[in-house]
Amino acid sequence: MPARSHEPAHASAPGHSHSHAGVHIPHSHAHGHSRAHAPSRVIAIFGGTFDPIHSGHIAVAQAAQRRFHLDTIYFVPSSRPPHKSRQSLAAFPHRYAMAALACADHAAFIPSLAEAPVDGGTPHVFYSIDTVKRFRKEHSDDHLYFIVGADQFLEIPTWYHYEQLLDTCDFIIAHRPGFRLDALRLVVPPEKLARTRTQNPHAIELRKTKLHLLSTVSSHVSSTEVRQRLEKRQSIHGLVPARVEEYIRGQALYR
Ligand code: ATP
Repeated sequence: MPARSHEPAHASAPGHSHSHAGVHIPHSHAHGHSRAHAPSRVIAIFGGTFDPIHSGHIAVAQAAQRRFHLDTIYFVPSSRPPHKSRQSLAAFPHRYAMAALACADHAAFIPSLAEAPVDGGTPHVFYSIDTVKRFRKEHSDDHLYFIVGADQFLEIPTWYHYEQLLDTCDFIIAHRPGFRLDALRLVVPPEKLARTRTQNPHAIELRKTKLHLLSTVSSHVSSTEVRQRLEKRQSIHGLVPARVEEYIRGQALYR
């Protein structure tokens, strides 16, 4: 059975309760079971604001799952993303609930509370390096990837301890229209690059890790577009999973 340690211990089942308060945020999630003899698995962290989660995120996750044979993808909504200055995010429980609803149709997709506000308190900033280290510790036998869109990877030099992050796990960098995958190499400090350049056009070899370029996905959808359409009372049909669309309507979000 796959480790589902990032599922909330008491979260209401997706689709059953749409209440904001229906999502319980435990102090820390259950990691208790022994992994001593668990077979090695291939897992990925997919972090984001997910405000809201949309069909582009799902397309990226599905393409990554197919190409890298991922057993589990943990969707990690961030309580307060360090890279986004926008003031008003939908509340964490809403963004988490939508991520959980989007995951409900995919057995390998698990919503994670790894960056949930602690005890419902003031959201503090979570850094990807800390989240990755935590997953590495909890899944020490597994191969861990970090999934990110090309737009976000190009910003990586602004991330906290990004050089250490580049050393810590392999990345899957998803194509996003408008962002060139061949520019990705330029944001990697030259001393991190492997001495010999690989012939594989879909990978950038670093000394300790590897950046895999996922060019089999191309989605124009963004959360910004979804929010803007909702503000203008336009349809978002097809831009987000059906259950998420229903949730947004039921909770009157982004109006
Ligand atoms: P916003 O429009 O509010 O900036 P977003 O659509 O970029 O949001 P995020 O939640 O910030 O969504 O994205 C989470 C991760 O998913 C990031 O790494 C981002 O680059 C990636 N991502 C989002 N949409 C796409 C897409 N259409 N194609 C490829 N990657 C994407």
